[in-house]
Amino acid sequence: MVSLAGGMPYVTALPLDVVGELVADLVAKRGPVALQYGSGQGDPDLREQICEVMRMEGIEAGADDVVVTVGSQQALDLITRIFIDPGDVVLAEGPSYVGALGTFGAYQAKVVHVAMDDQGLIPESLAQTIYALQTAGNRIKFLYTIPTFQNPAGVTLNEVRRRQVLEICQRAGVLVVEDNPYGLLGFDGEPLRALRADDPDGVVYLGSFSKTLAPGFRVGWALAPHAVRDKLVLAMESAVLSHSTFTQLAVGQYLATQPWREQIKTFRELYRERRDALLNSLEVFMPAGCSWTRPSGGFFVWMTLPEGLDSKALLPRAVAERVAFVPGTGFYSDGGGAQHMRLSYCYPQPDRIREGVRRLAGVIEQELQL
Ligand code: PMP
Repeated sequence: MVSLAGGMPYVTALPLDVVGELVADLVAKRGPVALQYGSGQGDPDLREQICEVMRMEGIEAGADDVVVTVGSQQALDLITRIFIDPGDVVLAEGPSYVGALGTFGAYQAKVVHVAMDDQGLIPESLAQTIYALQTAGNRIKFLYTIPTFQNPAGVTLNEVRRRQVLEICQRAGVLVVEDNPYGLLGFDGEPLRALRADDPDGVVYLGSFSKTLAPGFRVGWALAPHAVRDKLVLAMESAVLSHSTFTQLAVGQYLATQPWREQIKTFRELYRERRDALLNSLEVFMPAGCSWTRPSGGFFVWMTLPEGLDSKALLPRAVAERVAFVPGTGFYSDGGGAQHMRLSYCYPQPDRIREGVRRLAGVIEQELQL
């Protein structure tokens, strides 16, 4: 089976022996602290280090405004818990991250999708959607957006639109939740400036070490305006008392002693090669009528099938041919996405990616002939 479905980072590319030594060293030298309860807000030294990481995206923030969470997934859960009463509206790109949609649904938010194209969220659609919802008496609690190397679409909000999106949300009094786990995994040039860098009061920023280090540590964070930060810490303490001190200190130790910027470059090169393998083989194998996005970072390509094909119906046939993908419907809360699928290139080796695309193209061709 070739899986183009999962979004698992390729952790095998890490120096696992070094990580092993670092963990052993942590227990030997700081065991009593590492194995003790910690603060609800997270380890202060790690929060300083997180600010250094965020500086790469133009964010100037103090450690005091950072809350360490169990991956950015927990930050999403806490933010939703704090803000959402049943029936409140959350705006999200269409398509959007399945894990976030699941969380919003669990708290009975009403998710309204905003249209996007290959330059990200469309500001005019955002403004119109907000206007229509607010005049109909809906309470919009926040815009959830993944502006950089979006999951699942692989597209990036361009610079002009970044300013427009912030302005529209400021004017309408809508908080922005910027989810940015892939921001440092760009294939061309310097990291993009985060939305949060230009609007400290109107944006809650979510970050994660899952893709730049390893998801197994489960270390992510939220950077929030003071009032939201205080609520996040309370919600965090109520959920888990404190994050694992052990993994926080392990990540802190890794950042303090290892060439982590170099490691991120290694990941970028690796994922760039896999992105190229996927895009080239789509070009070679896919029948006319298929189209796809061309990501400049991150893990995902979003493919549109020829008119009349349904990705969900296609999946069992693809699996029988030993290739898997994620049907587009999972990335919409309103039943959209049937003509689309998400293809990930993060985990399989390039030759496996080519083989997977060849098999998938065969299944689509067969379907077109039926
Ligand atoms: N947001 C997005 C857009 C993601 O793709 C993911 C992981 N797939 C997460 C949040 C959650 O990541 P984690 O909890 O590992 O930080």
